[in-house]
Amino acid sequence: MTEKKYWDKEIETLPRNDLEKYQLKLLKNELKFARRGSPYYKKVLPKTELKSIEDIRKLPFVNKQIIRERQQAHEPFGDMVAVPERDIVYISASSGSTGVPTASPFTAQDFEDFIDCQARLFWRSGMRKTDRYIHALNFSLFIGGPCVLGAQKLGALSIHAGSIPSERLLNFIKQFQPGWTWTTPSYAWYLGETAKKAGLDPAKDLSIRNIICSGEPGGAIKETRENIEALWNANLYEYYGLSDIFGACAGSCTEKSGIHIEEDHMIVEVLDPKTDEPVGEGERGEMVLTTLKKRARPLIRFRTGDIVTYTDEKCNCGRTHKRLHGIHGRTDDMLIIKGVNVFPSDVEAVVRGSNYLTGEYRLVVDRAKHLDVLTVEVENTAKKPAEVQNLLASAIKARLGVTANIIVHPPGTLPRETHKAKRIIDKRTNVWS
Ligand SMILES: [Zn+2]
Repeated sequence: MTEKKYWDKEIETLPRNDLEKYQLKLLKNELKFARRGSPYYKKVLPKTELKSIEDIRKLPFVNKQIIRERQQAHEPFGDMVAVPERDIVYISASSGSTGVPTASPFTAQDFEDFIDCQARLFWRSGMRKTDRYIHALNFSLFIGGPCVLGAQKLGALSIHAGSIPSERLLNFIKQFQPGWTWTTPSYAWYLGETAKKAGLDPAKDLSIRNIICSGEPGGAIKETRENIEALWNANLYEYYGLSDIFGACAGSCTEKSGIHIEEDHMIVEVLDPKTDEPVGEGERGEMVLTTLKKRARPLIRFRTGDIVTYTDEKCNCGRTHKRLHGIHGRTDDMLIIKGVNVFPSDVEAVVRGSNYLTGEYRLVVDRAKHLDVLTVEVENTAKKPAEVQNLLASAIKARLGVTANIIVHPPGTLPRETHKAKRIIDKRTNVWS
């Protein structure tokens, strides 16, 4: 018997017309459910009848701040929740760099849908029952932890490592020889460098040949991706997730041509953040997501803050669901420098694409005499510092349209960031005023 190509063929290859009809049906149900169970949605959702999927634009947005406020107004879960507490079986909490952590609740069915969705993503990237998988995402309140259950559902041997120290993780990899792992791009790079320091060549001496990356834009940046792939002699698959909805909501197939988003679970809108009008294929806009099956806390038109580009074109793998071509950054980590929108991911692409640098970098934005100044710090391996300054300054100017000061350090000078990379320092005050 030949092995199946798709985890869920009918859904994954549904022609777009049929997919939209299916979405409209699910959306109507979701709205009905939200209105019935959630005092918040009962108040804010208009009673307009939706005739097409485009009519979603008649509905109001929600964002992270609204979720937080609604939660605080009605502790502990908030009045966006549409089921009684007895139906909630799991919560994840956002890593919450600022303020109050927000909880993302799941019913038993929500959790089952989530795990099935993870299994689908792993299958799509090429994982099979005979594979061994070491899950290197943190086990705590973080939604990334239970994603490993999707690999287990698929039938792969799943090692729940979490964020153990790098030396221990390398020992596990040597001992059990997994072919797959999932981590952040920064950590994939850091772990490879750590292996090298221990005298191991990750490309030859270690078994990892497939790396799933999420949590930072790096996985979508061609130059970063290619460097990590070369370091490990591995395929890199980018996944995108949001604890407010699922673990991963989108991921690359083996074509590695963008990341498919699960459109049977959510409606994707890509909007101009200034006008809220939809942008076209290939244009950058903020991604807005609406859940279609989530019952514990439906999210209607959730502004993710993530800047993406998309295509509706059918993929070579045969799947029809929308593909994102990269998460280019967030509306809130987008820097405005001398009136130009600067995405740190664009600087990263230039730095990681320059073979005379180590790939580590730091961005410092400051204001001198009322003018914004962008400084890019890098580590030089091959050329004279003055040469690096010239080459890099013109490459950044060409790609970003801004002038940057370049500070050149010897290799190993800049701090190595491991999990969530903090490479941007904005020293300006009142940036947004
Ligand atoms: Zn595909």
